[in-house]
Amino acid sequence: MWKVIPLMTREVAISLRDLRKEFRTPARTVVAVDSINLDVYNGEFITLLGPSGSGKTTVLRMIAGFELPTSGSIVLDGQDVSQQPPFDRDVNTVFQDYAIFPHMSVLENVEYGLRVKKVPAAERRRRAEEALANVALADFGDRKPSQLSGGQRQRVALARALVNRPKVLLLDEPLGALDLKLREQMQIELKELQREVGITFVFVTHDQEEALTMSDRIAVFNNGAIEQLGTAQEIYEHPATEFVAGFVGVANLIKGETAQALTGQSRTVSIRPEKITLAGAGDRQASGHVREVIYVGNATRIIVALDAGGQLIASEPHDGRAPTSVKVGDAVTLHWFAAQEYLIG
Ligand code: ATP
Repeated sequence: MWKVIPLMTREVAISLRDLRKEFRTPARTVVAVDSINLDVYNGEFITLLGPSGSGKTTVLRMIAGFELPTSGSIVLDGQDVSQQPPFDRDVNTVFQDYAIFPHMSVLENVEYGLRVKKVPAAERRRRAEEALANVALADFGDRKPSQLSGGQRQRVALARALVNRPKVLLLDEPLGALDLKLREQMQIELKELQREVGITFVFVTHDQEEALTMSDRIAVFNNGAIEQLGTAQEIYEHPATEFVAGFVGVANLIKGETAQALTGQSRTVSIRPEKITLAGAGDRQASGHVREVIYVGNATRIIVALDAGGQLIASEPHDGRAPTSVKVGDAVTLHWFAAQEYLIG
């Protein structure tokens, strides 16, 4: 078995300094990544989260060596690799369209990288079998990729990367092609696997729930820059900017005169829907009329147009109580605690 690294050590595995990438197109210059600074620790599961076009994939491709930075540096395990080709870097990448070879068996697919590196046959076999066992496919070595499910094929792609025992594994939306159920299952499996093998994972996704589920830390990207870096809880409960509040979870923002009237604040105030109730207690309250009632399975979301202006969304959990009976147009009073508010900007 591989050496298990039980706790995240604080040694830096990847260090990005003032990293910048411009793409020159005939029409204009696109700044895809704008002065990023980030330290990723050994054994950490870090997620680059952001909307399409925010620069996450470009950062990943620069760490892998598929793109060279316009300026700034990339240090892997203490060594500046900024100008080095991909094969000189101790990283492996798993893409969404996991390119596994259809004519080879699963075991041959996993062995392939080692064969290229001229690793002797017996060792190759042993390591490939170990990597397959790691992704719970020990009994699937003889199959062809066409005889596997989508999730199993994705695991073969993972085993192909793991067999090289890289210090760092880069994953670019690797679960993007899977249906929701399988995706959720793979999220848990991937996190378990990462903990077990102790490899540093850098994971790219635009899916905030995926990021919250799996990551030790999340870097939220916007316009080529990191807006916030923190644990899932820090990002969700204390978003640093309006963008982060809106992108991670459902944001309730109250501003200007409404914020002043309801909370006495001159800054923008945010409060998560699950902190607001129609019936419960709280030292804050706001009256209004129900604009929309949305049943979302484990809760009901109630969108309320406030008498003071603006709107707030309350989320009433279905925790054994009967779902709320409010209807569109009803006059309601919302309650929450000031301690649950956070100020933005
Ligand atoms: P997605 O989730 O859609 O993959 P992303 O956050 O990973 O998005 P990038 O792929 O890093 O974003 O792209 C960042 C910006 O750089 C975008 O505006 C994109 O159009 C641009 N870009 C990326 N690659 C190139 C290229 N080869 N030539 C020109 N522009 C590019």
